[in-house]
Amino acid sequence: MTILPVIPTSPDQPDAVPTRRRPSMPPRHLADLDLAARKTAVAGLGEPAFRAKQLSTHYFGRLVRDAAAMTDLPSATRDKLATELLPTLLTPVREQACDDGATRKTLWRLHDGALVESVLMGYPDRVTACVSSQAGCGMACPFCATGQQGLTRNLSVAEIVDQVVYLAGVAASGAVTGSPPRLSRVVFMGMGEPLANYPRVIEAVRRLTTPAPEGLGLSQRHITVSTVGLVPAMRRLIAEQLSVTLALSLHAPDDDLRDELVPVNQRWKVAEVLDAAFDYAAQTGRRVSIEYALIRDVNDQPWRADLLGRLLHGKLAHVNLIPLNPTPGSKWDASPKPVEREFVRRLREAGVSTTVRDTRGREIDGACGQLAAGELTQAGAAGVAADAEVAQ
Ligand code: SAH
Repeated sequence: MTILPVIPTSPDQPDAVPTRRRPSMPPRHLADLDLAARKTAVAGLGEPAFRAKQLSTHYFGRLVRDAAAMTDLPSATRDKLATELLPTLLTPVREQACDDGATRKTLWRLHDGALVESVLMGYPDRVTACVSSQAGCGMACPFCATGQQGLTRNLSVAEIVDQVVYLAGVAASGAVTGSPPRLSRVVFMGMGEPLANYPRVIEAVRRLTTPAPEGLGLSQRHITVSTVGLVPAMRRLIAEQLSVTLALSLHAPDDDLRDELVPVNQRWKVAEVLDAAFDYAAQTGRRVSIEYALIRDVNDQPWRADLLGRLLHGKLAHVNLIPLNPTPGSKWDASPKPVEREFVRRLREAGVSTTVRDTRGREIDGACGQLAAGELTQAGAAGVAADAEVAQ
């Protein structure tokens, strides 16, 4: 594991110990607005409308997030636009790398002191950003580190988009060795339940997929929204007619166990949630991804594999098995490899396409379900902030 120096991205870097303030939404940012709204905002500041496109080209086209680097703007204009449209939303507290530099986790402090994390993962053929949609999470899944902290607040559209633009900039700098320099995929598998922050997540998806300079120009198919299974929001997503990939965190094929592992199941049952997922697949023609964290002696029995196989047989679905990442203080552990292999074998025998997810970022607590910035104590955070100052 490598602790990377925190590089200041704007003049208003933290100069004090992070303090916990009342959670509040951040100021407006360019990435909250579509191009038409940016033009209106720029005009409201007494600037010609073309500045909206100029700013957008810097931010979305060239991945420049700091107005000071936009040297083709007259300095007075630059200061005004920076204050009004490019406020600092994310302040890096700590960056860590592992997997020989192919995985990097960034811990961010938001304007109100809330902490969230993003992970960048490089592969030979692609680079993926794993982003947070909320600070904390209200879904309370007992095996998930973020689920243990409760919800602090929703992230704004720009707080979500800015994580991706930052990570795209890291990729473009060639920092992810052995991977292409272009960030191509985004997964909403960081902190939070994306469908519980529905309008902002959808707006962020639109911003990420609109061609530059209005947006980042990613393909909708390369964006994955992962959910615990909030059925009404899944149905709303079907109506959006987007072609993003839907991942459903199932983790158990029976209501008895799922009620415990994914407490929202007490409201929307396995049959109902799978129906919504299958309808999404039918509407979009895109295979849904069924996420299943294998937990030793909890959900890894052969009969559960067979039941899952029966539920998914003949459906447009793929099972993504995740070896459980034990979280601190948890009584649960990953399933032994032979048990995992038997689970895979049974699913495949039932005709269900199944893969086991690789476990990136474990060493830096950056793997699935391990993002738990809120667990940082005040003392710990102060230490980190002090380090960050030294690094400057
Ligand atoms: N709230 C969303 C997205 C966040 S987590 C959701 O639940 O889908 C992304 C995935 O990591 C989910 O499938 C989640 O269930 C899984 N996950 C959470 N904690 C985990 C852990 N400790 N080990 C393995 N996977 C975990």
